Amino acid sequence: MYSGNFDIEFICKVPKHGYVWKDNKIDLVPKRNTGVIYKPYTQEAYDDFRRLAKYKTPKTNYIINMEETLRFANKWGNPFSSSDNDIKIGAPFHAEMLFLQAVTLYRNLLKNIKDEIVPKKPNEFIPPLSFMTFGWDNNGDKMIPIYKPKCLWDAIRFTMLFSIDAKETSKVCARKECGKTFSGRSNKIYCSPACTKKMWDDVNRPGKKSN
Ligand SMILES: [Zn+2]
Repeated sequence: MYSGNFDIEFICKVPKHGYVWKDNKIDLVPKRNTGVIYKPYTQEAYDDFRRLAKYKTPKTNYIINMEETLRFANKWGNPFSSSDNDIKIGAPFHAEMLFLQAVTLYRNLLKNIKDEIVPKKPNEFIPPLSFMTFGWDNNGDKMIPIYKPKCLWDAIRFTMLFSIDAKETSKVCARKECGKTFSGRSNKIYCSPACTKKMWDDVNRPGKKSN
């Protein structure tokens, strides 16, 4: 099998104060009109999506579903639109439905690959490829194909296509009260020495619970 280097260039747009669920519990809306944070799409965004796909099933408690969906959106923005105007005018989006469709699609593809079944509708897994171009890699010393998607969901689908099994490079701190994402050695389970110490204290001196 041929495999080569490529890069994905996309800037995620996130409302500065994050999103909040509307009363209907199906739409997310930017909390305040206080501007947009720009951050590049990275492996961490894909890892977070895969984590969301593990949580978000029709069987999961809907409060956990809502929390995890909100956590993703607050970190990476609305995956299905890249308009900063939506953030400026506080436009809601159908997060509940769109995220569920996205994680279902991801799980179906995983299952197809595992069961060695060619997908019946391959096109739904494939983002528009008209945004391919060429450029330099991060170090500026190698010319590679670059995908410039229109939205985060297209970036995620492109990553799925070519590296669905890519190793998770980021992890979530095992101390529940922290929950921070970090990267590091594969046997590391806490984000920092501080969290490791807090966990040690909690286990060994349960009376003096820290948080
Ligand atoms: Zn931690």
